[in-house]
Amino acid sequence: MIFELPKLPYLADALAPIISEQTINLHYGKHLQTYITNLNNLIAGTNFENYDLESIVRKSEGAIFNNAGQTLNHTLYFLQFMPNTGGVPKGDLADAINKKWRCFEDFKKEFSTAAVGLFGSGWAWLAKDSDGELQILKESNAGNPLTKGMKPILTFDVWEHAYYVDYQNRRAEYIEKIWEIINWQVVEKRF
Ligand code: MN
Repeated sequence: MIFELPKLPYLADALAPIISEQTINLHYGKHLQTYITNLNNLIAGTNFENYDLESIVRKSEGAIFNNAGQTLNHTLYFLQFMPNTGGVPKGDLADAINKKWRCFEDFKKEFSTAAVGLFGSGWAWLAKDSDGELQILKESNAGNPLTKGMKPILTFDVWEHAYYVDYQNRRAEYIEKIWEIINWQVVEKRF
């Protein structure tokens, strides 16, 4: 299949100042588009042409994995935002978080620490393992919990291109701010 840039459920300037229009235009409009273009070029004429994105991420390696992983990771990342929610998870996801971390604030603290402390480029993940338990993962480069048999639920991109325009080197500040624009209804559906 031919992969296309996913449509954003908000305008390019809607997440500002937490994520600026300039960052959306670069990160979504240029970086993600490049991963998708590369992926389409790399899978042309291979068996992966017949696979959906998640299957390619599970089964590929090398350049195809890197571009498929980055396509999936960024799709999950950009579709989980909405302007000014300031909310917290509800329902089954909230129950699972409270069971593991006692309360949302404790979970948020551990997740943020993982995201801030991830060395180099990568992704912090909340994932559901095969027992239905939540796990926080730190993945380098294009890593995704699917390759460990887990379901991706929430993700923070900590590649510098995600925050350098808006926060320069202040990754911790970027991490602290994006909690305010998480669309928990979207994240709850993934759980
Ligand atoms: Mn990115």
